Amino acid sequence: MAKTALVVGAGLGGLATALRLHKQGYQVQVVEKHSTAGGRLNVLEKDGFRWDIGPSFFSMSYEFRELFAYLEEPIPFELVELDPLYAVNIAGNPRTYLIYKDLARLAEEFADVEPNMEFKARKYLDSAARIFHDTEHLIIKRNFDGILSYIMSLARVPKKHLPKLFRSFWTELERHFESEEVKIIFSLVAFFLGATPFNTPSIYSLLNYTELEHDGYWNVKGGMYNIVTGILELMEKKGIAIYYNTEIVSHTPNGKGLKYLMDTTGKQWQADLFVINGDAAGFRGQVFQRKKYSEEKLDKMDWTMAPFTMYLGVKGKLDKIHHHNYYLGNNFRGYADAIFRQGVAPEKPYYYVNVHSKSNPECAPEGHEAVFILCPVPDLRLKPDWSDADVLGDEIIKDLSQRSGVDIANNLVSKTVYTPVEWQNMFNLYRGSGLGLAHGMMQIGALRPANKDEEFPNVYYVGASTHPGTGLPIVVIGSKLVTERIVHEHPLV
Ligand SMILES: Cc1cc2nc3c(=O)[nH]c(=O)nc-3n(C[C@H](O)[C@H](O)[C@H](O)COP(=O)(O)OP(=O)(O)OC[C@H]3O[C@@H](n4cnc5c(N)ncnc54)[C@H](O)[C@@H]3O)c2cc1C
Repeated sequence: MAKTALVVGAGLGGLATALRLHKQGYQVQVVEKHSTAGGRLNVLEKDGFRWDIGPSFFSMSYEFRELFAYLEEPIPFELVELDPLYAVNIAGNPRTYLIYKDLARLAEEFADVEPNMEFKARKYLDSAARIFHDTEHLIIKRNFDGILSYIMSLARVPKKHLPKLFRSFWTELERHFESEEVKIIFSLVAFFLGATPFNTPSIYSLLNYTELEHDGYWNVKGGMYNIVTGILELMEKKGIAIYYNTEIVSHTPNGKGLKYLMDTTGKQWQADLFVINGDAAGFRGQVFQRKKYSEEKLDKMDWTMAPFTMYLGVKGKLDKIHHHNYYLGNNFRGYADAIFRQGVAPEKPYYYVNVHSKSNPECAPEGHEAVFILCPVPDLRLKPDWSDADVLGDEIIKDLSQRSGVDIANNLVSKTVYTPVEWQNMFNLYRGSGLGLAHGMMQIGALRPANKDEEFPNVYYVGASTHPGTGLPIVVIGSKLVTERIVHEHPLV
């Protein structure tokens, strides 16, 4: 018998799940709060410029290949591998470090500060590779039916990794490298994911393996939003409708499960099955009114940092800035402590700069650059008022001007700022947290809000705050896991 499925949210997780369920024969439609699809993977077009507003690259590109192979469709966008992966500038140091996957080349970059770097990096990454491959299928790429099945999976992870649970990411780096430069740069992957290396377990060194060795980083020709455009064309071809400007705010159960969801206009959305792509913790609290996810309980959970983002149109060329760059200060530990633990808004900010027009000139008018800047900041629990957004924005522009040798402030032809308030309001991100729930040991696997609802047997979840977690390839894995569950628990025959 045909079954209908309603996907709530057209983020990458929701779109990928809609396509997979359709492939399995379910009749799918999607409702989306925002006026466009993509969720955080979205686009801003203004003053002749085009910027990707959130994600600018991703690891594990093979998860996208798997998705389209599953759909038996060609990949509707062109993947581009980053080489170098990114550039790093540290305040007070005139050098720009280019980060290469090729370890011999990487070692040359650090020859003056980290002797014998190739050997050390190889040893470090070999150990990180073993954690990745020993946990990928046991923990990341599988569904859990409860704590017991999770514990049984954990018990199968080789015991040699156990000490890595008890030392910090930073301590692990200290065991392998001497220079602050290398330790800081290798921490960035966790730092910009919203975790301080000083209290994150060292198993997250597996992220270094995924970026530096395994599959590297990729983006998409013409801009990241081409992922969404390509998926939307496919959905149109398959007749999967998306209803925009439709926010789900309440629900009505029946004796056996969820009967319908209701949007802000009072319209009822009925289906046999529901897949929630809105935040898996926030939605349970705000729409399903679950006590375990009350505002008080949600506020006690660990959330990733909030984004402060700027989209700048700059007249002239930024020759000293690469496509992907990190600009860091020289007080890493104090800075991480201030923004992560004390929730202080940064004064001398650490930030990421993406000059998108370097690789995609069509995104800016001739002779201009499209610049995206991301600075992780405390979420709205800690800093609810962003009426002073210009202070941080101006500080970043001043710092970038000094370090790039271009007077950016006086060459700005377009400027848009999204504080955590805009991020929260655009996509219902809880307290503006950019990547959703954090990935500490108590919020992963079966301890993360599950992709299957606790009360309604016809409700499922996909996306950043459910299993396996956040980031583009990870939510694509999530779409596979939730589809497997639905096909198993609600088969069509
Ligand atoms: C600034 C920034 C930079 C990032 N950079 C990277 C990067 O470089 N690489 C990377 O891999 N990841 C990056 N990420 C993370 C990545 O964007 C997310 O992990 C991923 O996009 C999450 O997808 P999702 O499907 O879970 O959710 P979302 O993208 O949040 O989509 C959920 C959708 O549901 C909708 N919705 C929510 N509630 C409701 C409701 N009640 N009714 C109807 N619709 C609703 C929302 O409007 C949204 O469109 C970044 C994130 C941010 C914010």
